[in-house]
Amino acid sequence: MKSENIKIHKILDEAYESANALVGTGQMPDFIPALEDIDPKRISISLTDMSGNTYCAGNYDGKFSIQSISKIILLELAIREVGEETVFSKIGVEPSGTGFNSLFRLELLEKKPANPFINPGAMVSASCIKGRSLEEKYEKFRNLAGELLGNPDISYSKEVCHCEMTTGHRNRALASLLIANGIYDGDPEEYLELYYRGCAFYASTSEVSRFGAILANDGIKPGTETRLLPKHHCELFRSLMATCGMYDSTGKYAVEVGIPAKSGSGGGIIAAARGKAGLAVYSPELDGRGNSVCGMQALKYISEHLNLRTY
Ligand code: GLN
Repeated sequence: MKSENIKIHKILDEAYESANALVGTGQMPDFIPALEDIDPKRISISLTDMSGNTYCAGNYDGKFSIQSISKIILLELAIREVGEETVFSKIGVEPSGTGFNSLFRLELLEKKPANPFINPGAMVSASCIKGRSLEEKYEKFRNLAGELLGNPDISYSKEVCHCEMTTGHRNRALASLLIANGIYDGDPEEYLELYYRGCAFYASTSEVSRFGAILANDGIKPGTETRLLPKHHCELFRSLMATCGMYDSTGKYAVEVGIPAKSGSGGGIIAAARGKAGLAVYSPELDGRGNSVCGMQALKYISEHLNLRTY
């Protein structure tokens, strides 16, 4: 084994140890009851380099609900469907300064969502997907997710989706408020369900880190010559990840880790260090802002010890 590979394995194992020390300090995602009973000790860490090699560490190699990581994929699909100009006439590109399901800004400050990575922003992305039925729209979303995550058989958890459809009252209010604000028309229940199905996609950290590596490699799948995303979209996504990807902890995360990232309230985080690596971490306990406590610690350790900071 080459010395570089040994070094990466060693750093990922150490990152696991440093993350593991924080188990018990976060909270399980109680706003999604279907995810509440997961073993809080699960930690999974993956890194994909620019040659397409994937390295893993941790005590869990299963799949998890990717939640808001899916917002990147939904945004890509929305841009493919109606074009960047139309998408960003309905969604801003600024940090919101409020929680991911807050109604505050839409009610009092401006009609359109602050950015595509908060819940109302993703609902607007969902409203841009064309199709005769929810199933037709979902199939487009699933195909793109399958391609970017390298798993053509990807599917969503009906249990998690149903749970969010029946308990996500703030999201339902947001979906309706966007109609009242004149941002979209049509069926808000359908946009909500398309959005929730994406949140309920299940993937492993290896799959998510390979997606991160595509973003880090300006759209070319590492180890191949296949372009999966336009370079300009990867620049856009990394910029949005850097400024809006970690909710209200984006500033703290930028200071501590310095790699564009998007977190999901299922406990996963994807990160893309341009020209260096794609990363994914998973551990279910969250901090008060919806980011994985152990996941953030693992990324901090890896960024520092493999010199992956990009800003
Ligand atoms: N499905 C979650 C919700 O809508 C996703 C939020 C998140 O991952 N931050 O509340």
